[in-house]
Amino acid sequence: MKLKSALIAAAVAAMSHTGVAEENVLNLYSARHYQTDEALYANFTQQTGIKINRIEGKEDELLERIKNEGANSPADVFLTVDAARLAKAHELNLFAPVASKVLESRIPAHLRTEDWFSFSTRARVIVYNKGSVKPEDVQNYADLADPKLKGKFCSRSGSHPYNLSLMASIIAHHGEAKAEEVARGMVANFARAPKGGDTDQIKAVAAGECGVAISNTYYVARLLRSTKPEDQKLISSVGIVWPDQKANGTHINVSGGGVLRTAPHRAAAVKFLEYLASDQAQVYFADGNNEWPVVESVKVANPALESLGKFKADKLPVKNLAMYQTKAQIIFDRAGFK
Ligand code: FE
Repeated sequence: MKLKSALIAAAVAAMSHTGVAEENVLNLYSARHYQTDEALYANFTQQTGIKINRIEGKEDELLERIKNEGANSPADVFLTVDAARLAKAHELNLFAPVASKVLESRIPAHLRTEDWFSFSTRARVIVYNKGSVKPEDVQNYADLADPKLKGKFCSRSGSHPYNLSLMASIIAHHGEAKAEEVARGMVANFARAPKGGDTDQIKAVAAGECGVAISNTYYVARLLRSTKPEDQKLISSVGIVWPDQKANGTHINVSGGGVLRTAPHRAAAVKFLEYLASDQAQVYFADGNNEWPVVESVKVANPALESLGKFKADKLPVKNLAMYQTKAQIIFDRAGFK
């Protein structure tokens, strides 16, 4: 940890500008760390001549860091996953509004705000044990609260952004009272206290410890694409449902970013966001983590995701996911969804 902090400090010192901001440099603070992102950045530099200095870290650490650096922050762009975290950066007043014809025409309106933009989407699906749960019983998120599933539901923490954003979408569509009823029903159905990440839930469902769980699609896709026999065995014993197909559609979340208010290289930062919405970058950005591009005309060939079939995605504006984060946490707390 100490070494890591020292390395970050050294990197920041290296990128801090003395007096005049150097041209052709972009300082990127990123909480995304996928191998394919290397190609994504190299390609931008090749196209524009703008060199990218990258600081990677956990989202909360990076936000804290930008806040503490204040007006002297070298950060130009902040990238992260989950609407809740992007919303947090907005609430901390870290993002500057960006008016860009390119971003407006490429990114659908429900996937952007005035100061942060989504560049890929992921869906939150229901994963069930083929031996112990019937798919017709788990067609909707609200079904996870049905007493029929008593002792069968497993989940990661109710405080995790992925679950908070899902709960925020339930509040937005059905109101607080219904959302709390769903949260309480889920708690009453727990097979065990919440723990682990989404992959741990899929494993527990496969092992039969749980009958049903929820997971982001890229975790499912990773297991589907794995060549390890144990992963293949595991994923073959679970079924996947696209929830709420007859209602508002399956809840989706996003990866995205924005330009910082104190960005020393604002023009380069806007150029970088516009680049992320380009056809070529969209493929790297989305497919590198088994996600979907936000630009509708861009298609990726991802056999794992395609094997899950087509689905109707919820069109709730990402702004609304952000709006109900606090309420979602209050409801989870009241319901005892730790
Ligand atoms: Fe994740």
